[in-house]
Amino acid sequence: QRAAEEQQRSLPATTTDGHRIEIAANINRADQAAMALSQGADGVGLMRTEFLFLERDHAPDEDEQAAAYLAMGQALDGRPLIVRALDIGGDKQVAHLKLPREENPFLGVRGSRLLLRSPDLLEPQVRALYRAARDGAALSIMFPMITSVSEILTLRETCEQIRQELQAPVVPVGIMVEVPAAAMMADVLARHVDFFSIGTNDLTQYTLAIDRQHPDLAAEADSLHPAVLRLIRATVDGAKAQGRWVGVCGGIAGDPFGATVLLGLGVDELSMTPRDIPAVKARLRTVSLAQAQQVAAQALACETADAVRTLEGVA
Ligand code: PEP
Ligand code: MG
Repeated sequence: QRAAEEQQRSLPATTTDGHRIEIAANINRADQAAMALSQGADGVGLMRTEFLFLERDHAPDEDEQAAAYLAMGQALDGRPLIVRALDIGGDKQVAHLKLPREENPFLGVRGSRLLLRSPDLLEPQVRALYRAARDGAALSIMFPMITSVSEILTLRETCEQIRQELQAPVVPVGIMVEVPAAAMMADVLARHVDFFSIGTNDLTQYTLAIDRQHPDLAAEADSLHPAVLRLIRATVDGAKAQGRWVGVCGGIAGDPFGATVLLGLGVDELSMTPRDIPAVKARLRTVSLAQAQQVAAQALACETADAVRTLEGVA
């Protein structure tokens, strides 16, 4: 099986009936791009920009950020790159930003909520992104932790203003769907964005009300819980109604069975840790879209996450 994976990693993830799904990597630095491509990535579906702020004692300025985004774009040589705007708060705390302590950081000012309250974080980052795009990076901008249309409209306004100032090209602007409200309102949110990427790590946490890092509840925090799958389905339906594409960049995308279910739910792109790519590609090349759709339909009808998991044996 290993040998088959090795051989197939450079081939596209095309099902036996000819349906192609994009496979992308979750990486943070340009020096990881060659490794991701060698694992078979078609591009980068999630560049977490928090890394530029973590493990150091000061925030990177606009120039440093622009260089980092451009370097990633160059390392990918024209392949697609989705850069996620800062997602700080919750499990990602940055001491040097000196943000107020919160009683419940997962339900507090995190992700885009922080960006909307901190022009000193948002504006240099958006400027850096458009500078990199102007210099040739084939990037898309993605905002994390979105719950409402008004957040999107404000963020897009900032993007457009900065883009015009810099005379930079138009780039796709999308959002992460990682809060149940966003999944349920997907048909509405889709009118205002170019794409969705579902963050199943947070979507699972917020749907099941289980802290994603809770040591005693890890087994119950299953992204294949039918409640989560129904929200993914709602997201896909909402996106498709507006002609938008949908990716998944949470951990379940890197699980071969999970990837099959997501394919069947109508997801267009899966983004994962590079080391998961060969096994996911190999699995997807053994199923048909029709089979994946059947498994997905059965999964949606299951009563429990355990019942969904038993479908792997029969799929
Ligand atoms: C997610 O929530 O699934 C996700 C991909 O984002 P992060 O893990 O960085 O919160
Ligand atoms: Mg998340």
